[in-house]
Amino acid sequence: MCGIVGYAGRSNAVPVLMEGLHQLEYRGYDSAGLALQRRGGLAVFKTEGKVSQLRALLPKRLTAPVGIGHTRWATHGEPSDRNAHPQRAGKIALIHNGIIENAQALKASLTDQGCTFESETDTEVLAALIDREYAARAAQAAPDDSTFLQAVTAALRAVTGAYGIAVLHEDHPKVLVTARHGSPVVLGIGEQAMFVASDAAALVRHTRQVIYLSDGDVALVRADGYEVTDLSDIPSQPQPITLDLEAVELSKGAYTHYTRKEIEEQPEVVARVMKGRIDRRFNTAALAGMNLTPAELLGFRRIKILGCGSAYISARLGATMIERLARVPADAEPAAEFRYRNPIIETDTLYLAVSQSGETFDTLSAVQEIKRKGGTVRGIVNVVGSSIARECDGGAYLHAGPEIAVVSTKTMMATLVVMALLALQLGRLRDLSPAEGGRILAALDALPAQVAALCEQAPAFEAAAAWVAPFRNAYFVGRNEGYALAMEGALKLKEISYIHAEAYPASELKHGPLALVDEQTLTVAIVPNDDLRSKNLSTLEEIKARKGPLLVVGHDADWPVAVDQALVVPASHPLLDPMLLLVPLQYLSYFTAMALGRDVDQPRNLAKSVTVE
Ligand code: GLU
Repeated sequence: MCGIVGYAGRSNAVPVLMEGLHQLEYRGYDSAGLALQRRGGLAVFKTEGKVSQLRALLPKRLTAPVGIGHTRWATHGEPSDRNAHPQRAGKIALIHNGIIENAQALKASLTDQGCTFESETDTEVLAALIDREYAARAAQAAPDDSTFLQAVTAALRAVTGAYGIAVLHEDHPKVLVTARHGSPVVLGIGEQAMFVASDAAALVRHTRQVIYLSDGDVALVRADGYEVTDLSDIPSQPQPITLDLEAVELSKGAYTHYTRKEIEEQPEVVARVMKGRIDRRFNTAALAGMNLTPAELLGFRRIKILGCGSAYISARLGATMIERLARVPADAEPAAEFRYRNPIIETDTLYLAVSQSGETFDTLSAVQEIKRKGGTVRGIVNVVGSSIARECDGGAYLHAGPEIAVVSTKTMMATLVVMALLALQLGRLRDLSPAEGGRILAALDALPAQVAALCEQAPAFEAAAAWVAPFRNAYFVGRNEGYALAMEGALKLKEISYIHAEAYPASELKHGPLALVDEQTLTVAIVPNDDLRSKNLSTLEEIKARKGPLLVVGHDADWPVAVDQALVVPASHPLLDPMLLLVPLQYLSYFTAMALGRDVDQPRNLAKSVTVE
């Protein structure tokens, strides 16, 4: 989950590492630290808290040619100075992204051998293991840099779990060792400098020449080059690729928060996702990167979409779009649930994996399970070159640009557009008429301006949020797509405002949750002008009869029921209505969190790229 950066070069590592950590802070932010190769030995600076707190700790004029840096998202041990990375053991300093699953057993055995531990982290256990492996080798023959590399490799052979790591050794001041298994690591090749990061976005301002390490790769990195081996010490020559990525614009510009900036980037994102994917001659769409011929697409009898969090909710909405337009059975499932129920993989099912980062561990593991069982799986991811993108034999990039805020906004919107394009293509391959295809394309064309018009209404959403902020409990309800949107509305509200919010199908309210509806419990209802409007109105009546405060998101300003607040969105083609209904829900949680003084971009306990189980 965390951010890893490393540098070995002719200039000063400190600004490179600090700027990299700043860029990666969204990946984890409960502690931060640096280890530097200094003339007098290894210098470690680390603290609980944010990168700005680490910055405050650093002496002025700190320089070093080689160093590593980390922002942590705690899995083992509370966020504290002691548990922050780098973790030390003897002459080793280690930073680690992921979880060592057999850390307990290893710790017990190392303790028996006389090791003592200062932190509660699994990472310190790996550091101790590397230190011992090194000592054993150094006792045999005069150590060189390869000894260090082999010691790391040997230690990694003993661990299970997921890791991306970077390691320094006090006696090897010109090198760092890095490795990956399940957590991304990218090497950047510069002029007389090498970079390491857990996310290529942190490298692009230094170099476009990168190497994505594969699972099981271990690399020795120095200013003028690198060597890569596998866990059996067999050398390999991974080919560098040139990143087709603009230097990432990470400034918030005029915005105070990335969350709002990213909400308001949605009109341009919607337009960008469609570029080059529309075929107006036949009123259809084509996602070229999917690597599936029309015949292959026609052959699928079922579509299964997997994701986690908002990606899972997008998957639900996508499945509904596909069923509506193509009449192919489609459904969605949380990736980890799918993976752990020993799923039946069918060769006539198309599996889709949705993930912003392309590194979501649960989703990546589901992809691997599908491939292992011979299934066809494609990725729908935002980060180019990410693990899921590389693991799948094709897919569709979201082109949403970097999403820095922890909560997903523009990425979810982009996913819904990709889903609509896929549904249109699958529909047009089957029974959807060219005329209906044309109506959907016209609605897609109108979407960016409609989303932009909603962004103009931000003050109205802010006023509604001021009314929402005092509540401590909320239900979000809707039917069909409205229920999926209710899930997203509730998820967003709890993520950034910390108000307890639960989503229910509107029809289910009377089967239990209505017991909690009173003056203190807010209900947010998603009520579009669709076939189920009258059913939804009955639910609203039931809530009002129990004096429940009611906020409605829908197409009307006037309601036959005495609603307390109404947020109005323009109507689109019914297929695309969810995209417009989503926007007020995003603003509602943003402004509610603001009203409550929350850390909107970096909510407590969360991180952006969930690379652990
Ligand atoms: N498991 C390690 C810890 O808790 C690393 C967590 C991370 O990925 O930041 O310290």
